[in-house]
Amino acid sequence: MKLQIPETMCPPSARAALLSAYDTERIPHALILEGAAEQTLMLAKWLAQAAVCTSPEKRPCGNCSGCIKAKAGSHPDITLAGGGETSRSFHKEEIEELRRNVYVRPNEAACRVFVLENAQNLSQQAQNALLKVLEEPPASVQFLLTCNRSSSLLPTVRSRAQIYRLDTTQLPQDDGLTSQIAQALCNPKESALLYLTAPLTKDRVRLRTELDKLILIFRDALMFRYGGTPISGEEDAVRMLVQTLTRTQLYQITQTVRKMRSYVERNVNMTLLVTDLCAKLRSEAGR
Ligand SMILES: [Zn+2]
Repeated sequence: MKLQIPETMCPPSARAALLSAYDTERIPHALILEGAAEQTLMLAKWLAQAAVCTSPEKRPCGNCSGCIKAKAGSHPDITLAGGGETSRSFHKEEIEELRRNVYVRPNEAACRVFVLENAQNLSQQAQNALLKVLEEPPASVQFLLTCNRSSSLLPTVRSRAQIYRLDTTQLPQDDGLTSQIAQALCNPKESALLYLTAPLTKDRVRLRTELDKLILIFRDALMFRYGGTPISGEEDAVRMLVQTLTRTQLYQITQTVRKMRSYVERNVNMTLLVTDLCAKLRSEAGR
């Protein structure tokens, strides 16, 4: 599904990661949007609208009946829950109510969407109840959790969702590191990759962002030959990868980075993760 997100709604890295996930039909069944309340809720409502939009073009189109109902807050397949502002004010009963509806087929849209606002206030019992649904999610259901910090959610909940950070103040500056890492793969000098990735072993947020960007760069390189439009904005790195690596190598590397990206949420040892990533990337790139 082709998603569109206004640039003002979301910082570039989260926006690019979301567009890439939807573009490649890897739409997570549960998303955690982390950041300021207003901003995360606005994006959650936007993604909910996109999910019920029926346009064959980019979604949400804003004009179809799904979009109109979503904007009016009256779409039967979009449920909003939570919203309380105090700790543990999001009770188990609300999640249990929601669990009864999760397995009901969508009324009009292709899927049902549950927006859980201020998920940081879910009580422990509520999170455990939610976990049961996230463990066996019905196919046509999407959960959109908004929260000011995902660390207040249980690791088991976090690991079953894709986390997108919208807090621009906490996002690292783009200093071209991702592009350098991608280009180092084309360079036989052994130490380059380890040197470049060293700062990532101490910063989980940064690691997450860099891996998301790397996935985009490799995606661009794979699409490049088929006339696809680059979305990473890293054309030098993309061109170099295309000239140096085969399509199979690019594909394998993309899969490796995706796998490593999924490990980042699981409290693994970051030094081991980054070292392993470098070794795998180098061997897959035949360096
Ligand atoms: Zn629409």
